[in-house]
Amino acid sequence: MGEPLLNVDDLEVVYGGIRAVRGVSLTVSARETVALIGPNGAGKSSTLRAIMGLAPRTGGQIRFAGKPLPSAPEDVVKGGLTLSPEGRRVFADLSVADNLKLGGATLSPGDRAHEMDRALDLFPILRDRIASPAGVLSGGEQQQLAIARAIMSRPRLLLLDEPSLGLAPQMTAFILSLVAKLRESGLGVLMVEQNVRVAFEYCDRVYVMVGGRIVRQDFENDARDLDEIVRAYFGVTAA
Ligand code: ATP
Repeated sequence: MGEPLLNVDDLEVVYGGIRAVRGVSLTVSARETVALIGPNGAGKSSTLRAIMGLAPRTGGQIRFAGKPLPSAPEDVVKGGLTLSPEGRRVFADLSVADNLKLGGATLSPGDRAHEMDRALDLFPILRDRIASPAGVLSGGEQQQLAIARAIMSRPRLLLLDEPSLGLAPQMTAFILSLVAKLRESGLGVLMVEQNVRVAFEYCDRVYVMVGGRIVRQDFENDARDLDEIVRAYFGVTAA
């Protein structure tokens, strides 16, 4: 795998009196897909948002491609990271094309057109919907648009928050198989998931987060681990 692309060391996120992230350390390498799993309120989204500069980094260090990562979101994006947020957050009144253009706002017009073509090649359904307002797309199409918009900025690392949320398993499988294609170009992926099965099926490594901390990491992706994790940290059986 080589040197990690992303190196998060002892990250803390505090909102007012709430310590949402407490000393989280993790790495993601190029061409690696890593999951951060855990129950509601564990601090998973806060970790992704803090990496992007969207939540306060109140402690710790983040290095990306061997250098300290800036804290202003625009500089983070220019540096090669991008976020597909929880709940997709597409701009409902804007067309698919305009949503994609916004994702490429840091690029020159020529590069933006090139990246839009690449994103539409990966997610062909969006080409058919290019002039439609994003709000009329199905949930699965909106998830594809959220990821396509995120990769418009030519990232080296994609942060993907709950891609399976509200989608049928077949749609999740389809979308994540498309994301897997991006690895061929060297992309790393850090994915937040509440669906442990999805994380195990699509990711090379899994970190388990509870109460703001990473409590386990580096699993063999086999069914025994899955059952054990679900019992231990989610309080239900995996069946
Ligand atoms: P979920 O899957 O429910 O989104 P999560 O693991 O992603 O859970 P976070 O959304 O990071 O968890 O939330 C962690 C804690 O931080 C929770 O207690 C949450 O209420 C709190 N929190 C998150 N965002 C904010 C905010 N902007 N202001 C104050 N508290 C927040």
